[in-house]
Amino acid sequence: MLALYCDDNRQVALQELPAPQPAPGEALIRVTLAGICGTDLQILRGYHDFKGVMGHEFVGVVAGPPGSSWLGKRVVGEINVSCGDCDLCRLGMPRHCRTRRVIGIKDRDGAFATYLTLPEANLLAVPLQVEDEAAVFTEPLAAALAAVDAARLPRKSPVLVVGDGRLGLLISWALALSEAQVHLVGHHAEHLSLAEPYGVATFLEKDLPPGDYAAVVETSGAAAGLDLALARVRPTGTVIMKSTYVEPYPLDSANLVVPEVRLIGSRCGPLGPALRLLARGLINHRALIDRRFPLSQGLEALERAQRPGVLKVLLDCGRQPGD
Ligand SMILES: [Zn+2]
Ligand SMILES: [Zn+2]
Repeated sequence: MLALYCDDNRQVALQELPAPQPAPGEALIRVTLAGICGTDLQILRGYHDFKGVMGHEFVGVVAGPPGSSWLGKRVVGEINVSCGDCDLCRLGMPRHCRTRRVIGIKDRDGAFATYLTLPEANLLAVPLQVEDEAAVFTEPLAAALAAVDAARLPRKSPVLVVGDGRLGLLISWALALSEAQVHLVGHHAEHLSLAEPYGVATFLEKDLPPGDYAAVVETSGAAAGLDLALARVRPTGTVIMKSTYVEPYPLDSANLVVPEVRLIGSRCGPLGPALRLLARGLINHRALIDRRFPLSQGLEALERAQRPGVLKVLLDCGRQPGD
């Protein structure tokens, strides 16, 4: 099968690999569409020292093993593969499993390939009304919903979302759908305009009016985004961090201690609520799609996704050259 493989030196290449064999309890999934995310781009810069088939955002069809009750079903999948047995798994935190592997991110092959394997317990069936181009957003939308939960919705005052990229838009939409007042600040007028139909007030950074916020969500992926978040969070307020930075961030602890600010990290969320939100047709996923590339042009797709201001780049993993 064809796969986008990242080696020890962070070099990515299209490779012809044997199709993976599902272990007992696992399904073999034929990937239909996969999404390139900021985490994939960070892996290319050394995040997690990942080696293997890249990719964690996908929708596909279960192709094996023979006799599986999932056979032929269209699925998305929880990306964290947990042991079920460690103290954190037993405490109900499988996403933090001590020995977790994460497809395309940590110690497990991912979805930028013709096939991937996942435990059947990780799969969710995609409802008929959710098209593949929507279903491929299930994982990032779940991550957005987790940030919304962490923001604890201060209803009487707006929440500030920093960053108008893919995740910043999903988070500001999800916040607006949960009836928060949302301000979104970014650098791309054409992205900001995608949030306006949701009732989000949008600002180019230079135009952000003075004032502070009970909750700020940082999604920009740049250290300057956390600078802005810490400058704009109200005393006793909350900053939710979605971005990881390749370089260490020089934090002056006085910026947390003196105003008694809470700084909360947020990574993934449960896929079920995201899939239900997509099924209700409330997420304008089409507006987030920049381009689709066949997997055979995966390197061009990765190159395109790294350009500033580009939204979601999708890989058609099911389409063969000449289809
Ligand atoms: Zn992602
Ligand atoms: Zn565990």
